[in-house]
This record gives sequence, C-alpha cells and structure tokens, in this order.
Amino acid sequence: MQMGKIDIIGLTRQELTEALRAVGVEPFRAGQLWHWIYTKGATGFEQMTTIAKKQQALLAEHFTIGRPGIAKALVSFDGTRKWLLEFTDGNKVETVFIPEDDRGALCVSSQVGCTLSCTFCHTGTMRLVRNLTAGDIIGQMLIARDSLNEWGKKREDCLFTNIVLMGMGEPLYNYEQVARALHIVMDMEGIAISKRRITLSTSGVVPIMKRVGDELGVNLAISLHAVRDDLRDELVPINKKYPLEQLLEACRTYPAASNARRITFEYVMLKNVNDTDADARELVRLLADIHAKVNLIPFNPWPGAPYECSSNSRINSFSKIINAAGYSSPVRTPRGRDIFAACGQLKSDSERKKGEKVWLGEKPAAP
Ligand code: SAH
Ligand code: SF4
Repeated sequence: MQMGKIDIIGLTRQELTEALRAVGVEPFRAGQLWHWIYTKGATGFEQMTTIAKKQQALLAEHFTIGRPGIAKALVSFDGTRKWLLEFTDGNKVETVFIPEDDRGALCVSSQVGCTLSCTFCHTGTMRLVRNLTAGDIIGQMLIARDSLNEWGKKREDCLFTNIVLMGMGEPLYNYEQVARALHIVMDMEGIAISKRRITLSTSGVVPIMKRVGDELGVNLAISLHAVRDDLRDELVPINKKYPLEQLLEACRTYPAASNARRITFEYVMLKNVNDTDADARELVRLLADIHAKVNLIPFNPWPGAPYECSSNSRINSFSKIINAAGYSSPVRTPRGRDIFAACGQLKSDSERKKGEKVWLGEKPAAP
C-alpha cells in the first residue's frame, strides 16, 4: 500500500462502496471496479475503460490495487509452480500451484511462519513473523491468475479452479483475515471459486472449527498424523491443548460435512513412527462415526528433518486397511519436490527481529 492510499484488495464489496462514497465516487462504481479487478485482472485504474479518465485519476489519487512482488518463481519438472512472494514490508511467503489435467489447486499461505512447531514440518522451524492480511492472501491468487494468464477466460478454460489453505501457517490462528479473504474469493461476480472448491487445513484449532463450517462452509482437512495422544502431542504439539477426543468431536459435529462432502484426514507417513498396521486399524476405529476420507502423505524431506518417509510397501499395507474399512485413502503423489514445493517443505527467510511485536491483524483468532 502506498502512503495514504487505500488498498482495494482485501476490502469487501460493501467496504469498497463506502470508501468510494467517501471520496465522492458513485456507489455503483464499486461493481465496475470489482469486475475489472477480479474478473479482468486490472492492475491499474487507467485500464478501466468503462470509467471516464477524470474519474480514473481521482481513483488513482486515493486507492491502489495491491499485488505482492514476485521474488522468485520456479517450475517443477511435473508442472508444479512455486512463487516466493514479497510484501511491501519485506516479508515473504511461498505459494504453490499444483496443476492436474483439467483443474488445479492453488496452495495458499495464511501466515509468515507459524506459531506451532509440528516436528515434521519445515514451516514449523520458523517463528511466526506475522499474520497475513486478507489482501496478502488474495494477492497470492491474483499472482497465480496473472502467471497462468487466466484473466477473463471462461471457467472451463481455467486450470486454477481450486484453493487449498495448506501453505505456510495455521489458518485458524488467523481466522478473521482468512475468512474475509475467502468471502471475497467466493463472490460469484469476482474470482468466483465456490466453497466446494476450497479446502481449509487445520492442525486442530478446535474452538474455531464450527465457525468455519457455519460461516464459510468450505471443506475441512485435519492434519491428524497420529492416533494416540502421546504421539500426537509430540508430532502436532497443539494436541496438548486440544487432544484427539475434542478434535474428533468437533469433526463429528462439523456443520458443512456430509456424505458428499467428507472431512479429509491428512496422515503423513513417517517411518517407524506412526505407520504400523495397528496404527491403521486404530485410525479406522477413530473415524467410525465421521464423514471422513483419508489422505496419506508420504513424508517430504527437508534439510535437517528428523524423519524418513515410510517404505512404499508399508504405505500400501496401511492404505489397504483403511480401504478395506470403506474409506477412500489415496496416497498423495508428492508434487514439486524438486523445487521444494511439496507439503511441509515451504519456508521463507523472513525473520522476526529481536523485540519486534508480532502483528496479528485486527484480533488474533487464538483463544
Ligand atoms: N497449518 C495447517 C496447514 C498447512 S500444512 C495444517 O497443519 O494443517 C499442510 C499439510 O502438510 C498438513 O497436513 C501438514 O501436516 C502436512 N505436512 C507438513 N510437513 C510435511 C512434510 N514434511 N511432509 C508431508 N506433509 C507435511
Ligand atoms: Fe504450522 Fe501446519 Fe506446519 Fe504444523 S504442519 S507447523 S500447523 S504449518
């Protein structure tokens, strides 16, 4: 954001209408701006040919259309793309696009770093530097649309069709900004990605889960990774605060889950840690009365990681037990490992300076 100017990215349509009114621009222009920015990808007011030159200049005087800078852009041999994005304060996050034949998911970050320190996750080795704003979160999507050259295209001609909140950070420790961003993204006259094509992954911030279902209605993914509290306490330390029983109860009652929209349980396969047949059977037992599917994620290594990935035969044996119990349990093929874009490999060099306060947005979602 430039000094004194309001960044339109991150404002709700209502807020944009009000902000325009405050500088003497008619409220109906909000719809026009929204269209230019979110369906045509306009980056400047001079591109908005339905708006008179004089008014374009007035808008430029008061507003900006912010986009993060691209510090690095990488493409994997398998087509996965990763961007290291830099915000105006110098902080950086990574965003990943995973294309498939007729669709693709953008893996979006919600924080610079993470307050949690799951032992198998590269992001977990960073401290939390700051929460992203809604504008920072949407900025990642704008960069993806720019880079894929998909502005103004029909939906069926776009590869960026889905969003997963599985990048850096714990989205439910930045709920207010994540929710604001998703409301803007789900607006059907804008980026228009529906709640059915959005999946939010959480390590298990139990008190916020119901709000996600009620207010956003998106798909939920849970980073489970262990079926016993003692092991989960170690791997996913938030478990000490919200143990398995509470987490599974919140899943049982998740408002947006149904037979057609199952909760995904993510389970990282760690050699000799959580990968026995007994673990698989216990997993089946825990999921008994939940609309669930399981995603087995081969552990993705990173420099200094204290784990190894389970063998293929171990993963297959684990998966067979889950399948036999009637759950789908695809083994996720790692994507973009060569460019460090796979699950849990994201990290940036942003560091919190000594004594610097952590910016947590309007109100930290942490209870
Ligand atoms: N903080 C959120 C979302 C980001 S992590 C969460 O934890 O759910 C996205 C997924 O990648 C999570 O399931 C996470 O546990 C998993 N993951 C983290 N490190 C990994 C690694 N090294 N290999 C495979 N998956 C990993
Ligand atoms: Fe944070 Fe998720 Fe990584 Fe855990 S797995 S450290 S919650 S980003």
